[in-house]
Amino acid sequence: MITLEATVAVKEGLHTRPAAQLAKTLKLFDSTVELKSSKGKSASAKSSVKLMLLGIKEGETVQVLIDGSDEHDAADVIRRSLSDPDFGLELSDDSGAIVQGAMPLEVEPTAVAKPAHAGIKGVSGSRGVAMGPVHVYIPEKLVATRQVIEVGEIPDELSRFRRALLQLEQRFVAAHQPAGDAARGKDRDKGDDIVRALLDVAQDEEFVGAILRGIEGQGDAAAVTLRVGAVLASTFEAMPDEYMRARAEDIRGVTRQLASILLGQQLPDLGSIREHCILVANDLSAWEFSRVPIDRVQGLVCIGGSATSHVAIMARTYGRPAVLGVPLSEADLQAAKSIVVDGDAGQVIINPTELEAAHYRGLIRAEEELRSGLARYRDLVPHTSGGRRIEVAANLGSLAEIRLAKEAGAMGVGLFRTELLFMQRPSLPNEDEQFAVYSELVAAFNPLPVVIRTLDIGGDKPVAGVEFPKEENPFLGWRGVRMCLDRPDVFRPQIKALLRASLSGNLKVMVPMISAVEEVRQVKAFIEACALELEADGVPHARFELGIMIETPAAVLQADELAAEVAFFSIGTNDLTQYVMAADRGNSQISRLYRTDNPAVKKAIELTCQAAARAGIWVGVCGEAAADHKLLQSFVEMGVTELSMSPAAILPTKKLISEL
Ligand code: PEP
Ligand code: MG
Repeated sequence: MITLEATVAVKEGLHTRPAAQLAKTLKLFDSTVELKSSKGKSASAKSSVKLMLLGIKEGETVQVLIDGSDEHDAADVIRRSLSDPDFGLELSDDSGAIVQGAMPLEVEPTAVAKPAHAGIKGVSGSRGVAMGPVHVYIPEKLVATRQVIEVGEIPDELSRFRRALLQLEQRFVAAHQPAGDAARGKDRDKGDDIVRALLDVAQDEEFVGAILRGIEGQGDAAAVTLRVGAVLASTFEAMPDEYMRARAEDIRGVTRQLASILLGQQLPDLGSIREHCILVANDLSAWEFSRVPIDRVQGLVCIGGSATSHVAIMARTYGRPAVLGVPLSEADLQAAKSIVVDGDAGQVIINPTELEAAHYRGLIRAEEELRSGLARYRDLVPHTSGGRRIEVAANLGSLAEIRLAKEAGAMGVGLFRTELLFMQRPSLPNEDEQFAVYSELVAAFNPLPVVIRTLDIGGDKPVAGVEFPKEENPFLGWRGVRMCLDRPDVFRPQIKALLRASLSGNLKVMVPMISAVEEVRQVKAFIEACALELEADGVPHARFELGIMIETPAAVLQADELAAEVAFFSIGTNDLTQYVMAADRGNSQISRLYRTDNPAVKKAIELTCQAAARAGIWVGVCGEAAADHKLLQSFVEMGVTELSMSPAAILPTKKLISEL
């Protein structure tokens, strides 16, 4: 038995998606896993609902008891999952930050003065402004036609419920087929991620178990489902944390779907919603929202919901303004013909006057102009006024982000972090599994370049299958290339997979955490040996350009020698800043020191660029600073020719480069 203590770094704590993801991953293990909150409440971590009910917050220290034959691997997964702020959230923006499509826009003041009439205040779920005709979604209240069944009916009622569960799953699968995706709108995979977590909740033993017990106690399946759902939703509603309270909406959405199947009652069809409308609802679950053809919806208004509810997250993901928690009655909604959703001010205006409509039309036009102004840069290859061509590429961590990067006008991938592929799994990915991912990525961007980084894990982010020693300073320890060179059994499948994927397009590979020339020579020899093995086995493959990340002061100070060994440098400003300044990148107390614009860090970047220029190789920047517009000019002046960043930052950066 292993007992471990962990501080939960997951953003907003163990809410629906992280809980569903953790429970799902842990089900792959034989060991039992019990999680104990700081308040002493404990539950099986293999049940997402039980986990959610513990109400574990970000920053809370929990105890985990793991018992079984694979307890060590399970412990690794738990440690890793709980220490990852984005665990379970990879595909969607949960942070409240504005994602692409709903970028913060500085709107020019319009000719029409703001009308004095104030709107009805709710909370902003997603920024931006929209106005249009109303599509009201208020499904009829679901009421069970009977409460009690005969003893003899119990077996049939149990199978009726199980069939309904199956049907619910089929609904989900049918609604999320690739063909359906095109019809329903863009970016669906991100929304699907949320809905998939809800499906896990629907199938969770806590929820399902309570319903089955209710039926065994002679309850009608629909009546019991509605009752169990209501009790569970009110348990969440009573929680002190706002984020957890918002999960009640998820439970109600799942309950509504299941009960409607059991009662044979159709919910209103959101698939046939009219074009350009504003969807207004009393209480819309993320599940229902996922059925809406998003291209037809301008904005969203809800009586229920909050900024942290899943509909809000989805609205932000799709770039649709949303105001939630609006104090209106259903009758008010029914009476609305047109409506303004002001996601910036968190208010709505029902049936706006001509003056109000003119004001908002002005705002919407200004937003559109700014956005379409940026859209112009999608296919543009940006050059500075001095004629320097700058590549603006994407930083990616999974294949799911490819489309987003392409839509954002990425000129390739400047950093593909392979860590995700190794995390959240009970064992290491083998060569074929890695080959499938790398070749799909490289082919998707061909002929544009794709820079894949070799594994950069360390003591702070362990991976199942690699035993990490306990280290005093993991960031100064056995991480990145240091670990890979010591563990050929881990490195070999990755290098061979990369050599094979190189046939699919324009692949470049880079190595993180280099601090000695000898490390680069060893990596090159290792790649050669892998290529020879593939050759001997008759496996098709091709060589790739090799580069290194400049992240340590040692690499900067030996940049001339390193440049002689490789085809390019990519400056990892996140780590370079922390190592130059001796300031932990995750420690907010010393954030005044952790600054890439510090003269010492800028000097390190300049020295790197000068060495690269002497050797005639190119230099990119792939740390967060690549998207810092205040640093753009100095990067370009120093000789950086590639900037790699999150997709959302690409268009504004292309625009700025063109204006330099
Ligand atoms: C960096 O250090 O700047 C970098 C891009 O790598 P990571 O953030 O993955 O350490
Ligand atoms: Mg780094």
